Amino acid sequence: MTLSSRAGRPPSITGHAEAQGAATVTGGQDAASATDSTLPDPEVEVVRSTRARRVSVRVDRMTGVVRVTLPQRAPLAEVDRALLRHRRWIAARLSEAAVIRAQVQARGNTVTVWGEPLELVEDPGRQRVHAKDGKLLVPPGRGDLLERWLRNQARAKLVPLTQEAAQTLGRPVARVSIGDAKTRWGSCTAKATITYSWRLVLAPTWVAEAIVWHEACHLVELNHSPRFWRLLRSHEPRTDEARAWLRAHGATLVLPGAAR
Ligand SMILES: [Zn+2]
Repeated sequence: MTLSSRAGRPPSITGHAEAQGAATVTGGQDAASATDSTLPDPEVEVVRSTRARRVSVRVDRMTGVVRVTLPQRAPLAEVDRALLRHRRWIAARLSEAAVIRAQVQARGNTVTVWGEPLELVEDPGRQRVHAKDGKLLVPPGRGDLLERWLRNQARAKLVPLTQEAAQTLGRPVARVSIGDAKTRWGSCTAKATITYSWRLVLAPTWVAEAIVWHEACHLVELNHSPRFWRLLRSHEPRTDEARAWLRAHGATLVLPGAAR
């Protein structure tokens, strides 16, 4: 059972769209802008997939890059058809991506850790990441160390919170791990393994706590039945608020520099 943000994917389409308008085969870009003058020129990536059975379109929530996936033998003209058919949906996702990018850029060099803003400062003398007086001192060019530090912060808070919640519920948790998912904040398996995205460290504490309760309640109910939601809300009244927060801000939980 997972808790994910809204997927950047329109309703799936078949590979048999009726031919309408733009018959020329291009990378997709010209056809899209020719059919709707309000659509900014998106960057379109076309990917052939042996596994894909249908044409699908995704829009990256941060970069706004449009990715069209084509089944191996589908004609390239399907790209234009997909872009044409979904032009309104694509335009809406592109303006969302622009808002997300602007929010991330407005934060500048600040990383918010459990709701506390810390200014990133490169410190050449340093081997390790260190938080001090509202600053996060980082060895230059070591984004890997920064991410590892943030993962450790996530682990240090989320593991004990999960164990406490599991104890309250009377269901043991086998393992708590910290992963790298971008839109899946937490998950729980039938073997009682709970995994969180380290990016939760970039959210306010109350949001992370709500995710902890969500996953812990899956130790009791491995589903999203009314019983599950009743149990969760009885322990975590801010469930809906936290979900709304993640829907609105989840895509901005990235490190500075992620927005081009
Ligand atoms: Zn769930």
